[in-house]
Amino acid sequence: MQTTLCPVCSSDVIIEEGSSEKDLVSCLNCSTELEIVTLHPLLLEPLAESAEEKIDE
Ligand SMILES: [Zn+2]
Repeated sequence: MQTTLCPVCSSDVIIEEGSSEKDLVSCLNCSTELEIVTLHPLLLEPLAESAEEKIDE
């Protein structure tokens, strides 16, 4: 098991063993869904597609 920094909130995100590129992980701190872009080096990118911006009204 390894950890890397959340690109959104900079807390540790746990990467399960056996994870591969394009897998999704969730940040436990900010609940953002993150996609594993590359494993070497470990690089995460937030999935911004889904309603992250709340539409008020
Ligand atoms: Zn986070």
